Amino acid sequence: MPVQQTFSGMPRRLYSASPSKLLAWLDCPRRYRMQYLDRPKPAVRSRRAHTSVGVATHNVLRDFWDLTPVERTPTSVERLVRQSWIDVGFRDADQSARWRLRTTARVTAYLRGVDRDHQPLGVERTVSLHTDTLAVTGRLDRLDDRDGELVVVDYKTGRARLTDDDARTSLPMALYAVAVAGMFRRPCVRVELHQVPTGQVLAHEHTPETLQRKVAEAESIASDLCRADADYAELGVESPLFGPRVSPICAWCDFRAHCPEGQRMGPEKSDWAGLEADGPGGAERTA
Ligand code: SF4
Repeated sequence: MPVQQTFSGMPRRLYSASPSKLLAWLDCPRRYRMQYLDRPKPAVRSRRAHTSVGVATHNVLRDFWDLTPVERTPTSVERLVRQSWIDVGFRDADQSARWRLRTTARVTAYLRGVDRDHQPLGVERTVSLHTDTLAVTGRLDRLDDRDGELVVVDYKTGRARLTDDDARTSLPMALYAVAVAGMFRRPCVRVELHQVPTGQVLAHEHTPETLQRKVAEAESIASDLCRADADYAELGVESPLFGPRVSPICAWCDFRAHCPEGQRMGPEKSDWAGLEADGPGGAERTA
């Protein structure tokens, strides 16, 4: 793969990335390489049950807003969950059925706390942000317009205990807020994590300065990625920049089968282990 040459006076090429791609590099450079650079892409393990629950929950919370206000009832939620259900990764049919009912109850309870007559400004909306060096494109879960205030909402379906600090430090949500402000030409400083299983809302109000710091953080990661991608283009898997970063995440990593260092971190979790009370922080990433 040829390395792009630049000459003085030439405009710099923007580095394009999603927030997930930026975070993948921070989590583990080897996993980043396998996910985004190696071709053919190494085979990933089959989907886990907590991911099935997370994807189905997000799909229901998307499709719910396509219903007319009078259709937004518990019966419709039950139907949407049934239609969206992904029966993959569970221990058996009984566990899958129990989790389908549990998910229906949780989504219904969550939506009881939401103004169902107030249509969000955006649902699973793609937003983008360009800086001098970086082009970020991603899809936010929900964008609310609350009496003129734009609010970025991100659903969480895992059981990890979250705090307002998780909303404050979330790089994706900060980037979405900046992108939304640019698209709508209005300030957007409030970001919220909505933990669907508990109905808890973790919120943070950014300032222009904190948002600018988040953009700078994204640019710094992108700058590292630019160098790493170029090194990979030259050296391939021999590049020394993609070492394993072992951590508890290894037990849940989709590429673990290709990573001896990760395998030494301990036994792999079962497909349904993420449904348990001590489920992975990783569930939050996929859900
Ligand atoms: S198993 Fe761990 S070290 Fe290996 S690629 Fe996955 S996250 Fe990285």
